[in-house]
Amino acid sequence: MKSPLTVTFLGTGTSQGIPVIGNDHPVCRSTNPKDKRLRVSVLLQWAENTYVIDCGPDFRQQMLREGVTRLDGILLTHEHSDHTAGLDDIRPFYFRQGNIPFYAHNRVFQSLHERFAYIFETENKYPGAPTIDEIAIDKDSTFSIGEKQVTVVEAYHNSLPVLGFSIDGFTYLTDVKTMASTEMAKIENCKVLVINALRIKPHPSHLNLEEALQFIDKINPGRAYLTHISHLLGFHDEVEARLPDNVFLAYDGLQISITS
Ligand SMILES: [Zn+2]
Ligand SMILES: [Zn+2]
Repeated sequence: MKSPLTVTFLGTGTSQGIPVIGNDHPVCRSTNPKDKRLRVSVLLQWAENTYVIDCGPDFRQQMLREGVTRLDGILLTHEHSDHTAGLDDIRPFYFRQGNIPFYAHNRVFQSLHERFAYIFETENKYPGAPTIDEIAIDKDSTFSIGEKQVTVVEAYHNSLPVLGFSIDGFTYLTDVKTMASTEMAKIENCKVLVINALRIKPHPSHLNLEEALQFIDKINPGRAYLTHISHLLGFHDEVEARLPDNVFLAYDGLQISITS
């Protein structure tokens, strides 16, 4: 029997996080811990394995909060800063373990090369900079991390392709606005679906709540969790109370288990 996959939501907030700096919106001032959201990322753990999807600007505090001491690799959905700005903070893992494997689209690696040039310097590399192993993937890839098979799915974030990942019936998608029906077919009836729901009003590059619920209806997962949430979605407890029975709002620190 395969080891059960444990998923911990490291962050569930949109690019600015909640609270937003200098913003006195009631959700930003909420004292409910579920209304405090770091930038999106999930921790995947089974047996002795630990992986994360995305490493945004809150990566360091997320690793400290969850007491992560070893990291086997990082899967990236796309290059936006709220998903990659923590790249330099992999250093403690790099110093202890050596090169850290990264799984991402070639386009994402190109963007990282431009934005973190010192990390990818081949001559006179700064000695404290981390080194990553680049494993290029695309929408047709399947690859394994430890004993787990990963199926890659592609969606569109306005016109930017983003990758999602499906492991043991757990599908993680964020920053989605549209998805081709051929890609949706890969994850139909999955056990658990994570999908972004930004706010109530429509947005050009993210699903809003209504669109996210329609997307969930089409995929028909066992249950679904909403992530990449803006303060404009509303208070956690109030929004969650209005959701269908098998749909939940994710929150930072939420842990779920997927048995295969
Ligand atoms: Zn994002
Ligand atoms: Zn994005």
